[in-house]
Amino acid sequence: ATPTALMVGTGRGAQLGILVGGPQVLESTRRVDTVVLDKTGTVTTGSMAVDQVVPAEGSDADELLRIAAAAESGSEHPIARAITQAGRDKFGDLPAVSNFENQPGLGVSAMVDGHAVLVGRPKLLADWSLNLDDTLSAGLEQAQSTGKTVVAVSWDGTVHGLVVVSDQIKESSAEAISRLRALGLEPVLLTGDNQKVAESVAAEVGIDKVHAEVMPSDKVDVVTALQKEGRVVAMVGDGVNDAAALAQADLGIAMGTGTDVAIEASDLTLVRGDLLVAADAIRLSRRTLRTIK
Ligand code: ADP
Ligand code: MG
Repeated sequence: ATPTALMVGTGRGAQLGILVGGPQVLESTRRVDTVVLDKTGTVTTGSMAVDQVVPAEGSDADELLRIAAAAESGSEHPIARAITQAGRDKFGDLPAVSNFENQPGLGVSAMVDGHAVLVGRPKLLADWSLNLDDTLSAGLEQAQSTGKTVVAVSWDGTVHGLVVVSDQIKESSAEAISRLRALGLEPVLLTGDNQKVAESVAAEVGIDKVHAEVMPSDKVDVVTALQKEGRVVAMVGDGVNDAAALAQADLGIAMGTGTDVAIEASDLTLVRGDLLVAADAIRLSRRTLRTIK
């Protein structure tokens, strides 16, 4: 490879809004046959909003939101930010919080107004033998089947209801997936979110393979397993919990709109966070290599 050809390649990359980590990166894109895509913040915008507050029978919707919003105020997770924002919008100041604990991939726990509060995926509550009644279970399934993420809220040993949050699939995601396919790459969706939510999003953008409910520390194992099958894997992600998978992938692609940790772990950065550019990046580096040879 001549340095000039590589510079041309990376210079064109910069024009398209791709930052290339180094010349070795172009080589590793050549054999990529599988693209693993993180859901939240990559295929979707990642800016979540509260759609619905569903109190359990006998519980109050306002109290549910106020307490959940306070408990989440110590977390940076997009779900937490959405719930805290909704609470602030509605009530202004939120109650004071103590004993806050973040449980990555699950939710949060905290003391709010003297209550021991849990907010998170239903599995987090189920681990404490807190189960949803039939009405809440039906509400949960309904929301999940339309691609919405549902978190459950409990305090003092009782499930008080659900908060339904959702984000938007990025406008360009479906087109980007079909361009990746056109390059002969198989797309795979990877998320910590619920299976039904993941399947709904996957169907909407044209992805057949889904790995859902994957704990943050296990995302890297999905990449490794694909590599063991003999696949050459590109991973596209934005979050702290994608960093290990991005580093493990044969080609790590970070959303420029994502966290610094993800960007540092990656070979390429899509400056504007546009998935269409991921397909461009792979095509560009293949073409550049052809020019070099
Ligand atoms: P993703 O892969 O979509 O970024 P995460 O691994 O961060 O997802 O989280 C997986 C799931 O855990 C979320 O879909 C949500 O149900 C739950 N969860 C994680 N953090 C929180 C939080 N702060 N509040 C509520 N639920 C959470
Ligand atoms: Mg993400």
